[in-house]
Amino acid sequence: MSSERDPSRRQIVQGALAASALAAVAHANRGSTGAASPAILSRAMAHELPPLPYADNALDPIISAKTISFHYGKHHKAYVDNLNGLLKDLPELGALSLEDLIKKVAGDTSKAGVFNNAAQIWNHTFYWKSLSPKGGGKPTGKVLDRINASFGDFDKFKEAFATAAKTQFGSGWAWLVANGDKLEVVKTPNAETPLTQGKKCLLTIDVWEHAYYLDFQNKRPDYVTAVIEKLLNWEFAAANLG
Ligand code: MN
Repeated sequence: MSSERDPSRRQIVQGALAASALAAVAHANRGSTGAASPAILSRAMAHELPPLPYADNALDPIISAKTISFHYGKHHKAYVDNLNGLLKDLPELGALSLEDLIKKVAGDTSKAGVFNNAAQIWNHTFYWKSLSPKGGGKPTGKVLDRINASFGDFDKFKEAFATAAKTQFGSGWAWLVANGDKLEVVKTPNAETPLTQGKKCLLTIDVWEHAYYLDFQNKRPDYVTAVIEKLLNWEFAAANLG
């Protein structure tokens, strides 16, 4: 009799697989090494591409569905796939949360690939949330109070944020961050993120060419101005400020 037609054997096999999966999850939670199946272990711990917080055409015409299809569907997804591939050979890093992983490998040149892909996953997820089809305009409440105290007024903040985004040489990011009670505008190159500098991120603008080239070609300043005026998600900034 073949095993496929033998219900008792099938049940035993399924039971063993379930037990193995449970053991792998328990094992991952402990963050130790042991005899769990590597295949099941890696599936249990894989980093995932978070869903977009809006439809792919929600930011049109400033950021088109075509840009989103490449930027989210190809670039952001590739960072996730690349990181999961790299972590297969680094089981000691596999159980860390994305934020803990970024902080752990920051500055370690032997882990530059892990840092770049992990930080780019985090930066992009933060960028999508920094934008909203109902965004733009002027914040209120605590965020506006802190902006006024830190920059003088909202127009001076906008000028500082736009300047950082326009003048970041090459690929990178412009950020509004909280450094203690003070709000600051900073820019970071490539995958670098204020997350590793002890600063609380409030908003970001991606200024890699892939963020704007299909919609604005070489006119980065026009993309930056449109994002600041029409898309910045001040509710997200307020939630981050706390
Ligand atoms: Mn990007």
